[in-house]
Amino acid sequence: TSYGFREVPEGEKQGLVNEVFHKVAKRYDIMNDVMSAGMHRLWKDAMVAALHPRRDPNYKVLDVAGGTGDIAFRIIEASKRTAHATVLDINGSMLAVGAERAKKRGLSENLTFVEANAEDLPFGDNQFDAYTIAFGIRNVPHIDKALSEAHRVLKRGGRLLVLEFSEVEMPLLDRVYDAWSFNAIPRFGKMITGDAEPYQYLVESIRKFPNQKDFAAMIGKAGFSRVSFTNYTGGIAALHSGWKI
Ligand code: SAM
Repeated sequence: TSYGFREVPEGEKQGLVNEVFHKVAKRYDIMNDVMSAGMHRLWKDAMVAALHPRRDPNYKVLDVAGGTGDIAFRIIEASKRTAHATVLDINGSMLAVGAERAKKRGLSENLTFVEANAEDLPFGDNQFDAYTIAFGIRNVPHIDKALSEAHRVLKRGGRLLVLEFSEVEMPLLDRVYDAWSFNAIPRFGKMITGDAEPYQYLVESIRKFPNQKDFAAMIGKAGFSRVSFTNYTGGIAALHSGWKI
């Protein structure tokens, strides 16, 4: 099967995504650096700076598709180790790597790891001050469900922040980026995990993800107010923001 060049049926999407992340969990962090040429670090720092987490033990963040903990660790550090973050992911292998990293950094007390689906969050209504999701929402088969769950679990006054690959809005950069993602990413994937096809699927999923304006409209439809977005690196990535009021 070639995941890259056939339409992946709705019901197979989650299974494919799970296969990719089970395979790469242990090498996920190094792969992020290789595939984004280190840029994911800058984008994640910018996301956490935009969130501006409170230095307050009652400040609660839910980091969905949190994987190996990158966003949550940054949030805890930015709160001077006062805040609490719940790292939620559908993939136990990614969470296991995250929990191990948290222990090494002495951050375990500020973190909870939860294995669950972004489309069906195991929390009551109005629980969190912020909901973050980085490079995760395009992997979720029903984005509208994930967004309405985000809205449900946030407190009034709570903030949604979504970091995701987006539409490159700079001439020339878009061509370099195409060459990079269609050729280099599946090749690196193959080098690191022995299999290129799942990466082709991931690259395709970036193409299929709605552009900045359309995604902002989806966030509004899920009930969020004051929706806005900021492009990073010419739109390779974009940060969307919304408020539950
Ligand atoms: N947020 C981390 C980061 O930026 O480094 C991890 C991003 S990783 C590219 C995507 C993550 O989304 C994977 O860990 C995967 O298991 C998770 N994921 C995919 N589908 C999901 C779903 N339906 N619910 C929750 N997590 C999901």
